Amino acid sequence: MNGKHVSLNMNVRGLKPSATLAINERSNALRREGKTVYKLGLGQSPFPVPECVVNALRHHAHEKDYLPVKGLPELREAVADFHRRKDHINASADGVLIGPGSKELMFLLQLVYYGEILLPTPCWVSYGPQAKIIGRNVHLIHTTYEERWRISSARLRSYLEKENDTFRPRLLILNYPGNPDGESYTMEELQELAETAREYEVILLSDEIYGQLKHRGGHFSVGRFYPEGTIISSGLSKWCGAGGWRLGTFTFPKSLFWLLDAMAAVASETFTSVSAPIQYAAVPAFRGGPEIETYLSHARRILRLTGNRCADILKEAGIRVHSPDGAFYLFIDFEPMRDQLKARGIHDSRELCERLLLDTGVAILPGADFERPADELSARLAYVNFDGAEALAASREISLDQDLLDSFLDVHCPDTLEAMERIAAWVKRSTENA
Ligand code: GLU
Repeated sequence: MNGKHVSLNMNVRGLKPSATLAINERSNALRREGKTVYKLGLGQSPFPVPECVVNALRHHAHEKDYLPVKGLPELREAVADFHRRKDHINASADGVLIGPGSKELMFLLQLVYYGEILLPTPCWVSYGPQAKIIGRNVHLIHTTYEERWRISSARLRSYLEKENDTFRPRLLILNYPGNPDGESYTMEELQELAETAREYEVILLSDEIYGQLKHRGGHFSVGRFYPEGTIISSGLSKWCGAGGWRLGTFTFPKSLFWLLDAMAAVASETFTSVSAPIQYAAVPAFRGGPEIETYLSHARRILRLTGNRCADILKEAGIRVHSPDGAFYLFIDFEPMRDQLKARGIHDSRELCERLLLDTGVAILPGADFERPADELSARLAYVNFDGAEALAASREISLDQDLLDSFLDVHCPDTLEAMERIAAWVKRSTENA
């Protein structure tokens, strides 16, 4: 040391950890302290990675070379084929970009694209913070409970027409089945959104990471109706149960290859390429086949039953919530009991979730984390705190021609039901004591 004063000011941006990861770590810390916590904060697939995909990873563990920045050619082909097969999109391998999770690809997209980002809310927790980190202008379009938290083409059109500069570059992020609401769009709704986007030259980022987890199947991509302006996002994290493997995909039409190339340039300067063994293992996952399809049918059947039963318990308690179309979330609204909650000192979604956690041990995320107005009494819960391997094995014993009975949940998802009962009882106490 030369005795010179060294300044250690904290010269960093004022950012906080992402809400989903923060609630997960806080829940784990509370558990370590010996508290009972129902972890409905982080949305992670409860199901194990399909055996054929795990075997492919084992088989390719020795792959050690850097792969091409845009991704392993066989994987890019398998992803293009996946979208051709599942979504009836004319995708080609050279339009596919592989990234370390679709989250990173979204960040890269927002980084390279100079334009306004349109976010219908409630929306996933990281779209907004990513734009803020980069310094992009975000415009939020708040949807309502009555609209099923979906943006209609009329709503989109009225925003676009209101603006002076109607044709300035814009990117609209759609997510369906949706995180945090579990809601999807009908084919007609997607068709109308596509028409409006085409008319105003809005690029769509269609986040379809939960597409294969639409509870009754039959997921449609908006890319079918607006192929030239739609980027489709997918990955292994949700439908393949491999969030921790970090593999996401973006699929571009030819007309948007300039965006793909710009993103790949940044990728080459940052993460280089996704882990080689993971990319090799992802090939059979995207190629699909009977093992994957059977796995998906069981996963969807279990999630359908769980989501509906959870929604029913909460509705019964007077909470506003829609029965879900897909994914594994419910977006719940405590507005009907605002006065009673106010009497208990709860005025916004952060206070709501904090009190719920302290009083009941149920960890969920405030609506404010999903870009909702701060004083709204909304929240997201992820109904996947059950042993997915066990539930999947039990479901495999029951013919796929049948629906599962409610008793399946009593045996295989008791903690999820218990968490719902705790929320319901907490609401009941609030209303009775008011
Ligand atoms: N998509 C998950 C969620 O919304 C978690 C993954 C993440 O945030 O990185 O809970």
